Amino acid sequence: MPNFVDVILPLPLDNRFTYTISEEEAVFLQNGMRVAVPFGKSKVYTGIIAEVHNRAPEVYEAKPINQILDETPLVTQNQLEFWKWIASYYMCTEGEVMRAALPGAFILESEHIVQLQKEAEFNESDLKDDEFLVVEALQNQSSLKIKEVEALLDKKSVLPILNRLMAKDIVVLSQEIYEQYKPKRVKYIKLHESYESEDAMHQLLDELSRAHKQREVVLNYFSLKAKSLKPINAKELQKISGTTASVLKSLVSKNIFKEYYLNEDRVAFEGEITRSHIEFNEYQLKAFGQIKAAFEEKTVCLLHGVTSSGKTEIYLKLIEEVLNEGKQALYLLPEIALTTQLINRLQAYFGDKVLVFHSKYSMNERVEVYQNVLKAGEGPKVVIGARSAIFLPFQQLGLVIIDEEHESSFKQYDPAPRYHARDAAVVLANLFKAKTLMGSATPSLESYYNAVHDKYGFAELSRRFGNVMMPEIEIVDIKEKHRKKRMTGHFSDRLLKEIEESLAEGEQIILFQNRRGFSPILECNTCGHSPQCPNCDVSLTYHSHSNQLRCHYCGYHIAMQKRCMACHSDDISTKGFGTEQIETELKALYPDHKIGRMDQDTTRGKHGYEKIITAFEDLEIDILVGTQMLTKGLDFRNVNLVGVMNADNLLNFPDFRAHERSFQLMLQVAGRAGRTKKRGKVLIQSYNPHHQIIQQVSTNDYAGMYKEQLQERYNYKYPPYFRLVRLSLKSRDFSKTNEAADWIAKAMQNVFKQNVLGPEFPPVARIRNEYYKNIMLKIPQNQSLGKTKAVLYKILISFNAISAYRSVRVIVNVDPM
Ligand code: ADP
Ligand code: ZN
Ligand code: ZN
Repeated sequence: MPNFVDVILPLPLDNRFTYTISEEEAVFLQNGMRVAVPFGKSKVYTGIIAEVHNRAPEVYEAKPINQILDETPLVTQNQLEFWKWIASYYMCTEGEVMRAALPGAFILESEHIVQLQKEAEFNESDLKDDEFLVVEALQNQSSLKIKEVEALLDKKSVLPILNRLMAKDIVVLSQEIYEQYKPKRVKYIKLHESYESEDAMHQLLDELSRAHKQREVVLNYFSLKAKSLKPINAKELQKISGTTASVLKSLVSKNIFKEYYLNEDRVAFEGEITRSHIEFNEYQLKAFGQIKAAFEEKTVCLLHGVTSSGKTEIYLKLIEEVLNEGKQALYLLPEIALTTQLINRLQAYFGDKVLVFHSKYSMNERVEVYQNVLKAGEGPKVVIGARSAIFLPFQQLGLVIIDEEHESSFKQYDPAPRYHARDAAVVLANLFKAKTLMGSATPSLESYYNAVHDKYGFAELSRRFGNVMMPEIEIVDIKEKHRKKRMTGHFSDRLLKEIEESLAEGEQIILFQNRRGFSPILECNTCGHSPQCPNCDVSLTYHSHSNQLRCHYCGYHIAMQKRCMACHSDDISTKGFGTEQIETELKALYPDHKIGRMDQDTTRGKHGYEKIITAFEDLEIDILVGTQMLTKGLDFRNVNLVGVMNADNLLNFPDFRAHERSFQLMLQVAGRAGRTKKRGKVLIQSYNPHHQIIQQVSTNDYAGMYKEQLQERYNYKYPPYFRLVRLSLKSRDFSKTNEAADWIAKAMQNVFKQNVLGPEFPPVARIRNEYYKNIMLKIPQNQSLGKTKAVLYKILISFNAISAYRSVRVIVNVDPM
């Protein structure tokens, strides 16, 4: 009989912890169940069982678990394996993965108190004895501690009982540190079983011939039933029968109807399926065939399809096939591309089989989706979600779609696990022997390389759907325009002319200005000083809207200055420009038109982003100015002109991927133009019109870009030829950070020689008064990744043992983006 369990705790600890279990518990316990366990002096944590075994730990005496929290596993065996892979590949702990993977409501940690749910509706006769005792006690006193429940029931393991009461929405666990999970309950009606036969039904209607109102309700029930298989909502039935709750009640008390409750999935779909059929054009047909053929031999396939070529339609078809096989599908895309537009499109085809998983959802909503995925018995579902959707408890995953696979936001930056959802999703799919399709108009060099080298299958769509032409791309030399005095603010005469023509035609316009590399800063024309953040090594950014100077790293802000803070000269001006300045200039140029702006400042809140998109779709905005948020898969019908205000600040960004990213961004934003019949137009303003990337964008020359960039990656030892691991050190002490970085770099150089780069200060070397230093390790293709990480791990353990460096934190980022 096994008498130990290994438990994963939601903490950054290197190991699982072993606890003892009783014989009874051993019979009951399975991997993936939650248990409450003591840890440290007096803490109680929720842990996940990773293994049940009979090996006593060698270095400590195992304590018994406190209680079992689940009746069936909350975490699947595949998830446990997936967590283990993530922890080992991305060099973090399983506990950190657990924290990222489970909605917080599942991980209770300290003293809880239970209360009766305020609007609890229940039948006492439906309660088990111990459940009844708890409810009765709670009717007499407002709350009970878990310990008091234990005393009341004379049992050690009471959380399963409480979990049942919670599931029935009778009892709630209240605890300060965790947000309450409260499913919304909806009342449904069904006909009593004894009336299910045709004869009984007729007899019933005869019996009710004098109870008109009741008869009416029953007839309405039948007509609803005939229309759809969905459960009949009590309120809805009452409404369409034009009757009162008491009529329904009397039918229930006559045992004609039965009432029951279901948790309403807050993200449930209520509309209708409006599409039943997808008909491919010849190019889609061919690409679809290529994908299917690739899946015969390979697990991953890359779909390179220009913007608006109909990639999404191909995804829909593949998902449909998988659902028909009774399997689940996962449709991953960058957070920001997860728009109502796309969700509606999926729902129109798959109806309530669509589950949406969004980081902006509340904990309740996430818990519901999690449980919905876990209950595979309720039918196959397609989950559409951003990167963290890879952590859902899939049962029978058949397909993973990774849309916009080139997007760097698939990589989690902070905190650990610093995983890349695209790469992790491939591993996830393999655990299920499922297939992965990556799609993009501008694939990442890494994925394209894998396709070229036959690791991935490949399919291509090089035409837009419906004979729509690719937009015409024109480059405007703004150095020249400046010289000839043909600039108005940041607008060339060419761009203004095109804008005016589009406005006259009643078309909409998108203007793209990436603020990331280049923001408006204040500069003194006398002494050159620009105001700096006192906490970070950056200049403050001017925000005209609030008339403030702000730090984008820590939020520090001061009022706009009229004089130079260094020399008091009043000859100061703003340098560089962001979306806000473009918006201001446009308002002055076109006072009669509506100008909108989409960037991090205007899209805060759960629906901020949605609101702007909807306003633009509803033609309430004529010109939309925005950052890279604009580039993400949006499908606007009435946009024919796209302007890139300044291509150079993208290209000059200090990162080895800057050129690849510029190409992707510009082509993606260009792809927003002319998605219907008329050919779209794109104007790119640049000081370097002959830059090879701008030339490649203008001719849509992906292959040329790929070839050239790949050569650079080869020459300078970057991915896909070398893998990277970046160590970031930080502390409040400048010299400690430096010394620590030197120590680690030296230890690494002893082993990895010239493949260690740095230590180096990052472009912003101080943030919130912490000093940063980076070390980069380059790993050649023929060097074992596992061994490399093991060495690195050893170095870090020795480092952590040095007390002088205790205040220095080391963050490891595998495959940094
Ligand atoms: P992508 O995902 O490659 O950007 P979409 O799938 O969004 O392209 O297709 C672009 C437009 O063409 C959409 O409006 C879509 O509805 C339409 N479309 C694409 N394929 C088909 C098809 N087979 N039948 C009908 N409409 C299609
Ligand atoms: Zn000055
Ligand atoms: Zn700052």
